[in-house]
Amino acid sequence: MPIVFAVAAALAIAVYQVLPDDPWLIGGWQMAVGYAGAVAVLVGARRLPRKDRLPWWLFAVGLAANVTGIGVAILCSEVWHLVDLPTPADPLFLLLYPFCAAGIAVLIRRRESGRDWTAMIDATTITTGFGLLAWIYVIAPSADGGKITMLGEATQSAYPIGDLVMIAMMTRLLRGSGPRGGPFWLLTGSLGAFLAGDTAWVVMGNLIDQGYPVEDIVWLNRGISSIFLVAFALFGAAALHRDARTLGAPAGPAVARLGRVHLALLTLASLVAPALLAVQLAHGQVTDGMAIVVASAALFLLVVTRMAQLVRQVERQAQQVRELARRDELTGLPNRRAWNDELPRALEDARRDGRPVSVALLDLDLFKQFNDTYGHPAGDRLLKSSAAAWQEQLRTVDTLARYGGEEFVVLLPGAEQDEAREVLQRALAATPLGQTFSAGVAVWDGRETSDKLIERADRALYDAKAAGRDQIIAAANRPATAAARK
Ligand code: GH3
Ligand code: MG
Ligand code: MG
Repeated sequence: MPIVFAVAAALAIAVYQVLPDDPWLIGGWQMAVGYAGAVAVLVGARRLPRKDRLPWWLFAVGLAANVTGIGVAILCSEVWHLVDLPTPADPLFLLLYPFCAAGIAVLIRRRESGRDWTAMIDATTITTGFGLLAWIYVIAPSADGGKITMLGEATQSAYPIGDLVMIAMMTRLLRGSGPRGGPFWLLTGSLGAFLAGDTAWVVMGNLIDQGYPVEDIVWLNRGISSIFLVAFALFGAAALHRDARTLGAPAGPAVARLGRVHLALLTLASLVAPALLAVQLAHGQVTDGMAIVVASAALFLLVVTRMAQLVRQVERQAQQVRELARRDELTGLPNRRAWNDELPRALEDARRDGRPVSVALLDLDLFKQFNDTYGHPAGDRLLKSSAAAWQEQLRTVDTLARYGGEEFVVLLPGAEQDEAREVLQRALAATPLGQTFSAGVAVWDGRETSDKLIERADRALYDAKAAGRDQIIAAANRPATAAARK
């Protein structure tokens, strides 16, 4: 069905190029293609679940109003001989903008769970840049024509403003997260075609104002109106696409992307203000200084905001990476890297406070056998639950870390041998599934390096294993200990 629609629309647009130059026939043909697009949007909407239909209904109303405007415009020129703005056709044409913008807004809300400030700032930046262009070349000039009424001027300005709103919504849609696929590109293609068509009209209008009779060139008029027919057709195709539903489907967690095209667009938008100033300076007269000042200031603020956002994001991620690098994934305990940083610091604190500090090395007994009997995953679970159970028995000041494999270390600040032993004994009794560990404890002698201290605890652990496991052995204190601590 979408293929049939697309082929029929393409044929209709092709035939449109060679139709005889009769306003009724031309207008009627345009309306047929336009209404077909609007009907396709409604048909597509009906095939979606009820809750997904709203944006498409909004689109259909906007399209239908716009197409109806074509008919009214012909009546205005051929029957009622109304030429001054605004004609009754203008409100109908203009309805396209708010309805499309509302539809896109609903889609964006459904595609994205949270507010995406980055996408918002990017869309605002691009819109501000193009907005300045539109202001200087389209909106401001239309306001001082002198020939037309206030309402006429307002109407004339409403079109570029509507286009700007569309640009804002479209860049927001493109910049945000959410699924992309056939319907996404058909929809953005359609919006892009509407914008291209409007831009072409503005260029035509400027040429006419400058005395070029371009309105009499038949193929040019056909070409430009064809852009709108393409827009109607693409809209219908988007709605009929079998994946149309994905357009309103929520995205996974947002991933900040800044592709080359986005970067180029942002750069271009930021350079609009100085470029316009340069052009006006080159012509020897700055006519829109204030508009350029306001837009430049807005752009600078947006870029600074964006930069601050990026820097903050990088800092946050660096922090996360640091934390990840220091944590053991299985048990959630500090890993060896964290331990190696922590121990010298703890020794330094002990030296300053003149307090004792003990270090214990724990090694699960016969863990290989446990793995062989119950499987590696069960072994993993034991490591995890042991870590949690031991942690419960340790004092709040103690630090348990995974040293590697089934070996753990405990830092016991303020603990002499007896207290350390007592704490470890509690931990040993708490080991889950009837398992045991052997441990070696060493009390810092006040002088030795952290490596030496660990080495003594390791030797004690070895002794505990040799003595039959399931026990805690303290390393012999070195003679210098008492002297060094006082
Ligand atoms: P001992 O009482 O002498 O310490 O005997 P053991 O079997 O515990 O010691 P051994 O060093 O021979 O074996 C340690 C085992 O620990 C071997 C290895 O497969 C297992 N292991 C090391 N890291 C992990 C892990 O992350 N998960 C699991 N499931 N097993 C691990
Ligand atoms: Mg081991
Ligand atoms: Mg072991």
